[in-house]
Formats: sequence, C-alpha cells, structure tokens
Amino acid sequence: MSDIITKLKKANLLGRGGAAFPTHLKWQMVKDQKSDTKYIVANGSEGEPATQKDGYIVEHYPETLIQGLKLALDAIENSSAFIYLRKDYFKKYKNKLKKLIGDLPIEVFAEKGGYLSGEETMVCQEIEKSILRPRHKPPFPGQAGIHDYPTLINNIETFYYAAKIAEGKYNNERFYTILGDVKNPGVYELSAKATIKDILKETKNLPDFKFFAQVGGGASGEIILDTEIDQLAQGSGSIVVHNQEKTDPYELMSEWLQFFMAQNCDKCTPCREGTYRLAEMIKNKEISKEDFEDLLFTLENTSFCALGKMVVPPLRTMSHKILKI
Ligand code: SF4
Repeated sequence: MSDIITKLKKANLLGRGGAAFPTHLKWQMVKDQKSDTKYIVANGSEGEPATQKDGYIVEHYPETLIQGLKLALDAIENSSAFIYLRKDYFKKYKNKLKKLIGDLPIEVFAEKGGYLSGEETMVCQEIEKSILRPRHKPPFPGQAGIHDYPTLINNIETFYYAAKIAEGKYNNERFYTILGDVKNPGVYELSAKATIKDILKETKNLPDFKFFAQVGGGASGEIILDTEIDQLAQGSGSIVVHNQEKTDPYELMSEWLQFFMAQNCDKCTPCREGTYRLAEMIKNKEISKEDFEDLLFTLENTSFCALGKMVVPPLRTMSHKILKI
C-alpha cells in the first residue's frame, strides 16, 4: 500500500460526494488494476441544489485541490487527471486552475451540466463524449471507467482532504452549505462529528421559530424536524432550513419533482413515469397513501440509476413527518 493510501485509511476519509465510500479502498482498487492507462477525476459537477461547497473549495483553496490530485497521480501509475466542473464553475475558475496546473497531466473539463452529470458513470460518458445516459454498474469506473480504463472518481472535497491528510492537517472536518430561512447562509468548514444542531448553533443559524430542515441536498435530502437535529448531517452536507409556518409542503415537493423531471434522462420507466405521476398527485393535493407508497417503492427498487432512487427520501420523509400521510 502506498504511503498516501495508508494515510487515507488511517484517517478513515470517506468520499464527500454523498455516498461516503472509504476513499482508500477506491484509490487502492484503481492502483491494483493492471493497465497502461488510468484516469483520475475530481468531480465538481455539484448539480444538487443548495450544495455549494465544491465551488467554494475551487474558489478559495485551488492549490490544495491540485495537491490532492498530485498525490493521486503519484500513487496511481500511468495516470492522468481531469478536474470536471459544471459550466459556471468552469467559466469562473478555469484560467486560475490552468495556471496552477502548469505541466501536470491534469485537464480542466467543462461538463454539459445537470444533476445527472455528477453520477460517476455519466462522468465517464461525458469525458468520452459518448451518449449522455448512465451505464450499468458493475463494472464500476474503478474497474472500467473512461474508455473502459480504470478510473478513480472522487469529489473535489475528497481530494482537498487527501492533501490535508498528507500535510498532517486533517482533524476530521468537512464542509457544510447552509441555506434557507437562516441569518448567516454560506459554506462552513466544521467537524464531521458536529450534529445539525451544533452546526446551526456554531454558525449562528439556529432558528428561534418552528422549523424543519432538508439535509444532504436541496432536492434529494431528507426532511429532519427541529426535534431531530441531534444527528449528523449526511449526504453532501447541505442544510436548508424552512420556517414550518411559512412553508407550503406541497409547493416544496412540487419544486423537487419538477427538478427531477427536468433532470432525468427518460431512459427507464420507473423514473420517467413515476416522477410524472407523483408530480400530478402533489399538484392536485390528492395523495392516496397506497398509490404514493407504491410509486416510491417502485422508484427506490427498480430505477436504473441513483437519480430515480434519490427522488424517494425527501418525499417519504416529508409525507410521513409533515403531512402525516
Ligand atoms: S433512473 Fe432516471 S435518470 Fe436514471 S436512468 Fe432511469 S430515467 Fe434516467
């Protein structure tokens, strides 16, 4: 095991794109593949609404991101890398990044945009300039990614912390995006062990009114009541606070579904038809518990890719906790 992979293991760094997969296992898997070509991707697609931490890192700490990529390039032989950015980040930061990259084998790549572009098989499809539809897994990108070569895909924040670990400056922190009905919205770096309550308190964002929060993504995050905030912020680490008196749950659910309908690729029936049927029910405010649960079950269990599955947690938690369906 290379020195940096041992350090990643010791620090127990989990991927910061939402899935929380152990970083050292991904790096080791790509390192162990026998291939004369390998790729590394720092994923800055950040298509999840209300998540801004990758953009924040590229803006404020680009040197640390590139240092993290350098470590991966050194650990994984025969590799070159991409910094994969959503369009607005690409426009804003490409020149600054290119200057810092110099002669390193790292390309700054503009994705075409959209939520689905952050899904790891879609990252491969975009870079290959292939049709923009997710691939079946397995094989995973670590085995057969870009042009079927082993490909390490980690979120930008993960590379940032790989560099901090190598420098001995990592104390189990992570980035949180805080938005919604709060006084001090923004991106904050705090302990990964902080509860939602700690985070809101520490950033002077804990409301003095009845609220609920959408945690882990502004579309796919779960609803957490103000009586449940003694828990960690999961997923992408975003917290969107909603004043319970002033928020129409149906309107919010409609917004999520419009987003998912606009972002899905129409490849599979459960996601294409399921989101449409759910949106119809919610628009008419006529929710049959049985039909609603059936649609959620189908989306969760039969969608081809993560997007269809991600529709479920916000709707299920909102319907159970707020609408009491
Ligand atoms: S789940 Fe949605 S986004 Fe994923 S393949 Fe099916 S239609 Fe496309």
